[in-house]
Amino acid sequence: MRGFFIGRFQPYHLGHHEVIKNIINEVDELIIGIGSAQESHSFENPFTAGERVLMISMALNELDIKKRVYIIPLEDIKRNSLWVAHVREMVPPFDVVYSNNPLVKRLFKEAGMEVKGTHMYNRVEYQGTEIRRKMINGDDWKRYVPKAVAEVIEAIDGINRIREIIGKDV
Ligand code: ATP
Ligand code: MG
Repeated sequence: MRGFFIGRFQPYHLGHHEVIKNIINEVDELIIGIGSAQESHSFENPFTAGERVLMISMALNELDIKKRVYIIPLEDIKRNSLWVAHVREMVPPFDVVYSNNPLVKRLFKEAGMEVKGTHMYNRVEYQGTEIRRKMINGDDWKRYVPKAVAEVIEAIDGINRIREIIGKDV
């Protein structure tokens, strides 16, 4: 059985990591879709699809499950009623969708697919928006992401990037 889980992963954090650790025990293979793949260099989406692939790939190394996981960037099509077909075209066939996102759940259910909810882990701290805010403010952000993800972000000078792109053109 193959499962599907989608996020923007800006960045990939310990909440995502917990969810994936759980899902992988329930399925033979897992597809991780990277949403809004075309976006980068903005506050909402600072990292490129390729950088996010690297973050997830490095974080999964420690779990020894890489052979059972596909990491696939997915561009937005801005057509919700056609989106499931778009996803299904871009990734290997899957049997079950794991999501806590109401729109994602609804769209896959309407397409007749099995959808399973996911648990939320420390959502106050394990939240992309909060972690990006910490990066900008100089607060400790590393404790909310897998160590390998922090290393990727440092290697690409990610903190300076996110600080610079929120600057104003004055
Ligand atoms: P942002 O604040 O940028 O939206 P996010 O933390 O919500 O970041 P996403 O990439 O939007 O991260 O999340 C993808 C999916 O991961 C979401 O549908 C969400 O349900 C799930 N998720 C996010 N944070 C957690 C968490 N702490 N525990 C469990 N699941 C989470
Ligand atoms: Mg989100």
